[in-house]
Amino acid sequence: MRIFDPHIHMTSRTTDDYQRMAAAGVRAVVEPAFWLGQPRTSAGSFADYFDALVGWEPFRAAQFGIRHHATIALNPKEANDPRCREALALVPRYLDKDSVVAVGEVGYDAMTPEEDEVFAAQLAMAVEYELPALVHTPHRDKARGVDRTLAVVKESGIAMDHVVVDHLNEVTIGAVHDAGCWMGFSIYPDTKMSPDRMVQILRDHGTARILVNSAADWGRSDPLLTLRTGEAMLAAGFTDDDVDRVLWRNPVEFYGQSGRLDLTDILEKEATFEGSSILRGGS
Ligand SMILES: [Zn+2]
Repeated sequence: MRIFDPHIHMTSRTTDDYQRMAAAGVRAVVEPAFWLGQPRTSAGSFADYFDALVGWEPFRAAQFGIRHHATIALNPKEANDPRCREALALVPRYLDKDSVVAVGEVGYDAMTPEEDEVFAAQLAMAVEYELPALVHTPHRDKARGVDRTLAVVKESGIAMDHVVVDHLNEVTIGAVHDAGCWMGFSIYPDTKMSPDRMVQILRDHGTARILVNSAADWGRSDPLLTLRTGEAMLAAGFTDDDVDRVLWRNPVEFYGQSGRLDLTDILEKEATFEGSSILRGGS
């Protein structure tokens, strides 16, 4: 099983996690910019963090044969802190970088007027830089948050298929599906969304435009829940091809819209691997 985790915060994980992920079949990740737990007090902290997302983390991932891309944005939570607002002016500089494949995470946390402004400004950047957008949805008051999110996305003029609306569940998927956006699901160990619930969603809605991620943020999380979802799909009668579509080809298609997704090394390695009859016989 080859796995592309389209939303994982490796900054909050250890190097051992990279090792476990590589062993589980994770070949590529996208790490969206988010908050650091401890509130940031100046734009300089964002510059250092964004530099790490395009420099240090890709290096760390490469030690384990994992290709790392990033998405860059001022996150919704810190959009509310006036000390962080200057970071918005730093974002375009990073949207020029080759390894940045989307604007994100943007969207709503508490749905404040400040978040409205920062969300709209960053969707405009996505349009200007012709990049996809990764949109976070609030964990509280989710249905209302998703409706408002879709209204702002429509108003921005970005192509709906350039947008993934993330952290969905059984209740919120319908509106996002009908709007023509991609649908993101974060699988967690004990809250929000589990591998078995994800399988039921795939049964009900099919595999098109669906992205499954492990989020792996500051809360209790598990970077191998993409693998567990693939295993649950197989156990439920989905084919290897279905699993490959959800866990590999869908994220490749979505982030490929940036024109910047570079998986050459990874795919070459895989071709060598598949071409080896000894390894094929042994697997
Ligand atoms: Zn996230």
